[in-house]
Amino acid sequence: MGSNHLKLKLSTSNLISLIAAMLWSIVLAGLFFWAASKEESHVFQYAKMEAGANFNKDIALRNWLAKHGGIYVEVSGETPPNPYLQHIAERDIVTSSGKKLTLMNPAYILRQTMNEYSVLYGIKGRITSLEPLNPINTPDSWEIEALKQFSQGVEDVSEVTSIGGKPFLRYMQAFYTKKKCLKCHGHQGYRVGNVQGGVGVAIPLEPYIKIKNDTLKILIYSHGILWLFGLFCILLINRYVKRQIDTQNRIRSDLASQKEQLDLVLEGTQLGLWDWNLVTNYVVFDERWAKILGYELSEIEFTLNSWESRVHPDDLASCYQDIQSYIDGKTSFYSNIHRMMHKDGKWRYILDRGKIVERDINNKPIRFTGTHTDITKLKETENTLQEKSSELEQVNKILSKQAMIDGLTNVNNRRAFDQRIKEEWERCHRNQTGFSVLMADIDYFKKYNDTYGHLGGDNCLKYVADALNKVASRTNDFVARYGGEEFIMILPGTGLEQAMIVAEKARNAIESLDIQHASSDCADVVTISVGVVACTQCSNINHYMSLISLADKALYLAKNNGRNCMACL
Ligand code: GH3
Ligand code: MG
Ligand code: MG
Repeated sequence: MGSNHLKLKLSTSNLISLIAAMLWSIVLAGLFFWAASKEESHVFQYAKMEAGANFNKDIALRNWLAKHGGIYVEVSGETPPNPYLQHIAERDIVTSSGKKLTLMNPAYILRQTMNEYSVLYGIKGRITSLEPLNPINTPDSWEIEALKQFSQGVEDVSEVTSIGGKPFLRYMQAFYTKKKCLKCHGHQGYRVGNVQGGVGVAIPLEPYIKIKNDTLKILIYSHGILWLFGLFCILLINRYVKRQIDTQNRIRSDLASQKEQLDLVLEGTQLGLWDWNLVTNYVVFDERWAKILGYELSEIEFTLNSWESRVHPDDLASCYQDIQSYIDGKTSFYSNIHRMMHKDGKWRYILDRGKIVERDINNKPIRFTGTHTDITKLKETENTLQEKSSELEQVNKILSKQAMIDGLTNVNNRRAFDQRIKEEWERCHRNQTGFSVLMADIDYFKKYNDTYGHLGGDNCLKYVADALNKVASRTNDFVARYGGEEFIMILPGTGLEQAMIVAEKARNAIESLDIQHASSDCADVVTISVGVVACTQCSNINHYMSLISLADKALYLAKNNGRNCMACL
């Protein structure tokens, strides 16, 4: 499609050039033929002017001669007395010195001067009449025709014709009988005003034709050069235009393919385009922009209000704030998430992004272009995720708490203890603050179970745990169920003496619970034995496990001491 278009354009430019070349040729040929024809007519006119000049000179001479009644010249072989003037009384006269003179009338003189002129310059002069006195002046056929036209009122006749095979311009003008002519021609019956004859002249055209041919050569060369120059210019213009068209077509096809790609990308990414003229507030939207909001493009007016009126009122201020931040150069591009009203009346979350694409000479933004993406689903998922994650957080909190709590007694479990003892151990080494560990074990608990049942045993465990919890009442005191019916207490910042007091308190607290234990060998009620160990500076103990093992030993000692007591190492 693109290449056909290109070919069409190229052939159009060639066609235009061809037409231009043809027009140029026609114009130049026209100019040439016009100039040539002008030159041709100039030849005729110049020859006619020369003929006219000759004629005028002849007429002037003839008038002068007629005015003076002719002139007397010496009779010679060349100029004998004119037999056609013998009717004139003093045709021949003899001077006092005996010189014979004869009268020459104007026609006689002109004929002779014309002959002379013809010999010298090739210009043939003739004086002729339909009724010539001298038969030499008898007109030839061309002259007869001209003389006949004079009698019909034509004043002069001219024609290019050939004489002796050479081109001549023949020109003849009528001359009319004047009073002074009657001296010689009155006897022929002429009256004043009658056409008496014609004075003709034949101008050789060869010199003019030579000039004309030279001029024609110049015209041919100059027009030829001009024609070639014109064709060359047309060729150059054609190549330039072709190149321009090529460039334009390339740009056009590049733009088309870029647009195609952009459309594909936009289609794929479901981006809606907007193009905001900040000067006129005219905003161009594309179909996808409208579709995101459930509209056809034809339903959307290309105004800023089409966007603004659909933005959630609570979000509009933040939009303009983000736009302003971008315009002020605080952000590298504009980006904002806001809600917009869909045609179905529901809010949609829109990710709005844009950039300034044109500024005026003062760097003031003129055009602002960007995209809309419907991120409602994403936003909903994000919200759900947020809800779920906070729920999960709660569950995790509970779970992690549960993971550290003994399910039966609700005091810390063994895992919590392991963690806490490590911390205390490290703190003790870090701060050189001592702590004590109390290990308590219910006396004859197996027997209790045997007596009161396992459930009864469980209840008993709960009461004991609860009571021990109350004894370890300081914020940082820690109670955990260490094993079946064994409990362990960590008393931070507590030395052996204090720990022993607490141990005694604990023992007493359990005894005071007054839980009947009929099968106990040491009391009537449930009692505990407590092992106490203090880690004052912990320098004498390698590992906290050793501490536990010491507490266990102390407990063993208390058991051996008869139970329901505490012992320390
Ligand atoms: P001593 O005075 O030497 O400690 O004797 P004792 O019977 O208490 O010690 P022994 O180790 O022989 O028995 C401990 C008993 O504790 C055995 C077990 O059935 C009971 N026990 C352990 N865990 C639980 C529990 O979660 N619930 C109940 N009901 N009994 C438990
Ligand atoms: Mg035990
Ligand atoms: Mg026991």
